[in-house]
Amino acid sequence: MRRAIFPGSFDPLTCGHLDIIERSLPLFDEIVIAVLNNPEKNPMFSVEERCEMIGAVLREIETEKCLLTVDSFSGLTADFARKKEAIAIVRGIRAVADYEYELRMALMNRRLEPSIETVFLLAAEEYSYVSSTLMKQVFTLGGRVEGLIPKAIEAKMREKADSGN
Ligand code: ADP
Repeated sequence: MRRAIFPGSFDPLTCGHLDIIERSLPLFDEIVIAVLNNPEKNPMFSVEERCEMIGAVLREIETEKCLLTVDSFSGLTADFARKKEAIAIVRGIRAVADYEYELRMALMNRRLEPSIETVFLLAAEEYSYVSSTLMKQVFTLGGRVEGLIPKAIEAKMREKADSGN
């Protein structure tokens, strides 16, 4: 059983995240989308909302061989990966700017848990500038995020904006 975790904030899930998930499908038997509980980041969506939204989007993906699950965690990614008996931590790299941060994280995680490899997958060119933060900024200012955020997630962003919280 080759299980990987794909940890992140996913506030909210973008097409860039989805692209990384799809690229990792042939590599593993199970991928756990691991939503970091980070209330100090003042997220747009609660961790419960994020898990539910991701679950709904994942149900649309055709996966014959790979199981896709969603879970949340707080604390160290390496501890969560060990708890899940994962062999790998999947991360996406968009540009050189990501590399420096990701390198530090991966080396630290390797020190904490030497048996777990970090696997970097390159972002699709068309999503290489997409981040949750940029999508929230553009959306909040009334710009179009169509095609960069899954439709179901965009609908939730609209609901959230309309309800004013
Ligand atoms: P974190 O706060 O841990 O960086 P994110 O939700 O921002 O959480 O990102 C989770 C992972 O997804 C990271 O490895 C990040 O590099 C990757 N990622 C984010 N956006 C994209 C994208 N557009 N294309 C590819 N990978 C991405």
